[in-house]
Amino acid sequence: MISVEDAVKHFPLARRGLRRREHVRSVDGVSAHVAPGEVLGLVGESGSGKSTLARIILGLVRPTSGRVRVDGLDTTCLTGPGRRQLARTAQLVFQDPHAAMDPRMTLGESLTAVLAQHRIGTREERAATVSSALEEVGLDGTYLDKVPGECSGGQLQRAVIARALLLAPKVLICDEPTSALDASVQARILNLLRRLRREHQLTMVMISHDLRVVRVMAERVAVMYLGQIVETAARDDLFTGARHPYTLALLDAATPRRVTGEPDTGAVEPPSPINPPAGCRFHPRCPLAADQCRTVMPPLVEIEPGHEVRCHRWREVPVSVQV
Ligand code: SF4
Repeated sequence: MISVEDAVKHFPLARRGLRRREHVRSVDGVSAHVAPGEVLGLVGESGSGKSTLARIILGLVRPTSGRVRVDGLDTTCLTGPGRRQLARTAQLVFQDPHAAMDPRMTLGESLTAVLAQHRIGTREERAATVSSALEEVGLDGTYLDKVPGECSGGQLQRAVIARALLLAPKVLICDEPTSALDASVQARILNLLRRLRREHQLTMVMISHDLRVVRVMAERVAVMYLGQIVETAARDDLFTGARHPYTLALLDAATPRRVTGEPDTGAVEPPSPINPPAGCRFHPRCPLAADQCRTVMPPLVEIEPGHEVRCHRWREVPVSVQV
């Protein structure tokens, strides 16, 4: 359903006084495939490139190079009709529901506008479709006339999800859909997404910095670090047998005894995506870094069927056992 081949996105930096043009290497040679009905979890710290990759898939950001197809449609060079076709195939659920909705429009008006834009149904049919879409996500008829300021974050995220499903897309990309919500609301939104995914037979990409979220939703997980995929595996294989030191740090951050949700990679800050380290990009933070790691970029290699790792020393990484 989703095919990404060697996608690259370098954003030029416009800073005064630069002698040579610098670029933020946000996505740097990513290939990924998602089968129909599959849920791929995409994890990594902020700045790892996962949100840019999502926007490349949805044609919102044009890649510097690479090929991207969603249900057979090339999303790297969309025109007007192509954009409308893609909107009916794939939708995005944003992190911040308040930013995703027009604060001056009622929820009913916001959802109806999507149907009107795509010339779907009569006025009466649109009203009925919008009411049942809101009901499906647990919002009764009283929400039709509410503006975003009258709703909680959880209620608004439900409305955003209802709006995303109005055009009956095959693909839903969720970019940190629960990270702006209270902990008590997060589980309910994830349960809602799980139910909708099953009922609508959706293909999903679930983006999160938190492996706990991905674990609830995804069947397969790809871990991104500084614009590259460093490990990908079936969910259970990743949680019981991760072989990349960065994935292990993320897993450690997701254990109950840690509360920050941030990976423990010593005191070293993540390097800049403007000028990433030579060799393995993780080497300044990696406890296993050796000379080769500082000069030679490790390739992404398949160490067993469906399990790929980008690490010279993956055989020496202690196998994780998380249950
Ligand atoms: Fe660490 Fe070297 Fe593996 Fe990179 S290649 S993750 S620096 S051991």
